[in-house]
Amino acid sequence: MKQSELFTKTLREAPKDEDAVNAQLLIRAGFIDKLMAGVYTMLPLGLMVRNKIEQIVREEMAKIGGNEIVMPVLQPMANWEKTGRWNSLDVLFKFTSYYTKNDYALGPTHEEVISPLLKKFILSYKDLPRYVFQIQNKFRDEPRSKSGLLRGREFLMKDLYSFHANQKDLDKYYELVIKTYMKMYKRLGLGGNTYVTFASGGTFSKYSHEFQTVADAGEDTIYICDKCKIAVNKEIIKEQKVCPKCGGSKLREARSIEVGNIFKLSNKFSAPFGLSYRDERGNMNDVVMGCYGMGISRLVGTIVEVSHDDRGIIWPESIAPFRFHLVELRKGIGRDLYRRLQAKGDNVLYDDRELSAGEKFADADLIGIPYRLVVSEKTGKKIEVKKRDSKNTKLVGYGTISKLS
Ligand code: ATP
Ligand code: MG
Repeated sequence: MKQSELFTKTLREAPKDEDAVNAQLLIRAGFIDKLMAGVYTMLPLGLMVRNKIEQIVREEMAKIGGNEIVMPVLQPMANWEKTGRWNSLDVLFKFTSYYTKNDYALGPTHEEVISPLLKKFILSYKDLPRYVFQIQNKFRDEPRSKSGLLRGREFLMKDLYSFHANQKDLDKYYELVIKTYMKMYKRLGLGGNTYVTFASGGTFSKYSHEFQTVADAGEDTIYICDKCKIAVNKEIIKEQKVCPKCGGSKLREARSIEVGNIFKLSNKFSAPFGLSYRDERGNMNDVVMGCYGMGISRLVGTIVEVSHDDRGIIWPESIAPFRFHLVELRKGIGRDLYRRLQAKGDNVLYDDRELSAGEKFADADLIGIPYRLVVSEKTGKKIEVKKRDSKNTKLVGYGTISKLS
């Protein structure tokens, strides 16, 4: 993509109404735009990153049997009354239709839609297990939305729901999801600092599990067992001061961001909707459910929080908007290289703008694409390569560049 064709521009100054580093950098670099507190537009570069995260998530969901759907955001009050959450869920956005006078909610999570949905398809034990997920904007009336993409009032979540004949089958799948989540965070460049975190609040199990990425900007506090590479959250530490795995008491405190949360739901949502199945003996049983959330837009912000320097963002290669940022220091001198790289797949942002070298380099650092390629009169037939996270530059030939991709 030619940078001259990008409708967005970088900003020299950080926006005054944003404290969070992720929001400041993402806005300055032209990835997102703020409409109001907790609500952001994904600009072209931001959407590219988000799409790459979604792609990784979709690949991993497919490997564990996930069927993708999209459920309605607009939901009837009746479903929320059935589970008692119309009045108990404080973050639920609700409103009344001017015409029908009916009340509606904007989906903050989708148990109230997916349970009656699956009831139409799950009849007998032969229809189980089932795994269904979506990637969709969620709406929550968050009292405080001050952390950029970390806490939105409208935000993108991946939510997976599983349906089982019994607790044992759920337990097995739940363990598989934990492994899959850790694989996803690793692919997203967060492997080294993301911990499976024991949390309370499993409806019918001792623990639920959060996935927490260590970051100064995090709103949460976790206690890490370095031996087991797991953590416990604040509620758990109050009940027990030891690692639930090894029983050790050497736990290290850290600030963190919750990037995922999974629960065993048992029949909490299947019972109110009559989601049951006929077993081998002809008896009816409640379907046993699990739910597995992951904050896709929060991940965009989290990655920026843990991977930046004072000049800008440093994207991990797996989710960078482009692999190469080709910067030409004389009009047209990079055109040929751009065409050659582009022919191998659209992996290049080509800075063909007429700006000073200093301005172009500052933008490249701010945007944070993994490889900066500079061509100028000085580089001749060679290309100056610099990795975003390194100070060193190297002069190489085209053959070396093409091997990088
Ligand atoms: P939190 O404790 O941070 O408010 P939660 O426990 O209410 O989150 P879940 O209902 O478990 O969130 O949602 C699943 C995932 O969605 C979370 O782990 C998080 O990554 C993401 N998420 C939740 N709320 C928000 C939000 N307001 N903005 C962005 N992402 C969010
Ligand atoms: Mg949670």
